[in-house]
Amino acid sequence: MTESVNNAILGLCERAGWTRVRRIVLKVGGLRRANPELVAFAFSVVSRGTATEGAELSILSLPIVFRCRACGRDTGSESTAFVCPRCGSPDVELLSGLELSIDSMEVEGGGTSPEEDL
Ligand SMILES: [Zn+2]
Repeated sequence: MTESVNNAILGLCERAGWTRVRRIVLKVGGLRRANPELVAFAFSVVSRGTATEGAELSILSLPIVFRCRACGRDTGSESTAFVCPRCGSPDVELLSGLELSIDSMEVEGGGTSPEEDL
């Protein structure tokens, strides 16, 4: 995932004329099970020699939320056991948990970026 994130950011840099990225905040859904330390390490490897080299990467972990199709209740979940706590139905729809997007970035050669889905 880090390589595609870095490529997406480099694409933004090219379009916006940014020469250097100092800080990146990613929004990552809980279902992606992103370990912040591992992601930061992997990012430091794939960013080497690019405009994002040395950038500080942080991760905002978004909650897993699902909705019960039987009774309509929304439930936040720490696990992937998707069963409605109200009626016990396993027929649920995932509302949030698979996100991967840029929350914000600090860059040189331009302003702050708008939010961008990857
Ligand atoms: Zn239910």
